[in-house]
Amino acid sequence: CFSSCSPKVCIVGSGPAGFYTAQHLIKAQKHVHVDIYERLPVPFGLVRFGVAPDHPEVKNVINTFTQTAKHLRCSFYGNVNVGKDVSVQELQRAYHAVVLSYGAEGNRTMGVPGEGLAGVYSAKDFVGWYNGLPSCRQLSPDLSCETAVILGQGNVALDVARVLLSPVDMLKETDITQPALEALAHSQVRRVLIVGRRGPVQVACTIKELREMVNLPGTRPDMVEADFDGVTEALKDLPRPRKRLTELMLKTALQTPGETEQERRDQASRTWGLRFFRSPVEVLADPERHRTAGIRLAVTRLEGSGEAARAVLTGEVEDVTCGLVISSIGYKSLPIDQSVPFDSQSAIVPNTLGRVKQAPGLYCSGWLKTGPTGVIATTMNNSFDTARSLLDDMESGVLDLSAAKSGSQVISALLEQRGVKPVSFSDWEKIDRVEMSRGEASGKPREKLLTVEEMLHVART
Ligand code: FAD
Repeated sequence: CFSSCSPKVCIVGSGPAGFYTAQHLIKAQKHVHVDIYERLPVPFGLVRFGVAPDHPEVKNVINTFTQTAKHLRCSFYGNVNVGKDVSVQELQRAYHAVVLSYGAEGNRTMGVPGEGLAGVYSAKDFVGWYNGLPSCRQLSPDLSCETAVILGQGNVALDVARVLLSPVDMLKETDITQPALEALAHSQVRRVLIVGRRGPVQVACTIKELREMVNLPGTRPDMVEADFDGVTEALKDLPRPRKRLTELMLKTALQTPGETEQERRDQASRTWGLRFFRSPVEVLADPERHRTAGIRLAVTRLEGSGEAARAVLTGEVEDVTCGLVISSIGYKSLPIDQSVPFDSQSAIVPNTLGRVKQAPGLYCSGWLKTGPTGVIATTMNNSFDTARSLLDDMESGVLDLSAAKSGSQVISALLEQRGVKPVSFSDWEKIDRVEMSRGEASGKPREKLLTVEEMLHVART
C-alpha cells in the first residue's frame, strides 16, 4: 500500500523554505511523499531572483535543493500559481498536510509624497530587474543621473549599492542579465548614498557586505565624521559581531588611510557613503520633466541606545539632489487565498511553531512564517522547525493519516481542466541547460531566460 497509504504533503513555494521543509520531511519520515507547487516555471525563489549576481557561492544551496527535488518521494510542479490556478482548500482536500512557503513578494512603501515619480524604485523591483525576474523585466531604470540615494541600510541596500558601483568588468562574469549589464555599462551614477534613520550602531547590514563596499575597486568611501560622535566610546559595550562591524565603519570613516589605500582612493572615480540620522520626507520633482530631482530628508536624533534606540525628528530638514531613489526598507508577505488566516499588521501567517493558527493541517515556513528577515541559514532552521511540528502531528495523530489522499493525481486533473500545464523538474533542467550554454558563449555562469513564455517554450521542446 506504499503509494495509497503513504502520507502526502504538499508545499507551496520552491524557495529555500520550501526545499528545506521538503528535505527534512523526506529524511525523517520514510514514507512521506512531498509535492512542491511553484508559481514560476523555474525553482529556487530568492536564491535565483534575490541573491546578488556577484555572490555565486551563496547559490551553491541549489545543489542540495536539486538532490531533494530528484528524490523518488519528491515532485516539482512549476508554473502553478496557488490561490489562482488552484485554491489552498483544494490542496488541503487532496493532501494530508499543506505547508505554505511562498515567501514575501510585496514590499513596504515609504508612504511619502513623490514616491510614485519616475526615478523612484523599490529595491525589490531593482533587484528583480538585474536578476531577471520576469515581472521586473520592463523596469529599465534610468541611470543617467550622477547621484543615487538608497533608503535603508540592510544587506539588500548594500547589494544594490554594490551593483550600481561595481566595475562592469566584474559584473560581466556573473549571471546578471544582459540588459542590466548593458544599462550599467552606460550608467552615469558616480555617487551612492545609503541612508538610515538611526545611527552607525544600529545599521542592519552585516560585516561581509560592508567589507565588500569598503574594498570595491574604483570606489572610495565618503562618510560624515560627525555621525560617529560617541561611537568609539560605545564600542566596548557592543556584542561581538556588532562590535566588529562598527569598528570597520569607524576605521573607514575616521582613520587616515595608509599610502596604498590613499592611492587607491585618489584614483577612484565613484564614491559611496553611509548617511545616518535621516528619514525620508518627500521625493522632490523636477518641474519640467516630472521626474525625481532630489529627496527631502528629516534630520533625526536617537532616543535611548543600542538596538532599541528610536529615531525622533529634530524638526530640521535637508535636501539632497539626486536622480535616482531606491527604497530598501523591507519586503512584505501578501495573502494569496482568502481561506488562509493572515495577520495584515505584521504581514505573516499567524502560527505557533509553524502550525497555522486555527487551521488544522496547514503549516508555514520561511519568510511567510517569520517575516522577511534572515539569511538562508536562518530560513533553513525555521523550516526544519516547521517540518518537525508537522512530523510530531503525524505521530501524535493530530493529522489523520487513516484516509487515503489522492495528492497530485486530483490536482493534476484540476489543473488540466483549467488549462494550466505544470513544469516538471526535468523540464526545469532543460531550461537550466539552455541558460548555462547561452552563458558559456559570453563567459558567464548562465544567461537567464527573461520571460515566462520563453521558459515555457524551452521546457516544452
Ligand atoms: P523565497 O525565496 O521568496 O521563496 C518563495 C517562493 O514561493 C518563490 O519561488 C515564489 O515564486 C513562490 N511563490 C510565491 N507565491 C506563490 C504562489 N501563489 N504559488 C506558488 N508559489 C508561489 N541570504 C543569504 O544567505 N545570502 C545572501 O546573499 C542573500 N541575499 C539576499 C538578497 C536579497 C535581495 C534578498 C531579498 C534576500 C537575500 N537573502 C540572502 C535572504 C534569502 O533569500 C531568504 O532567507 C530566503 O530566500 C527566504 O526563503 P523563502 O523560501 O521563505 O522565500
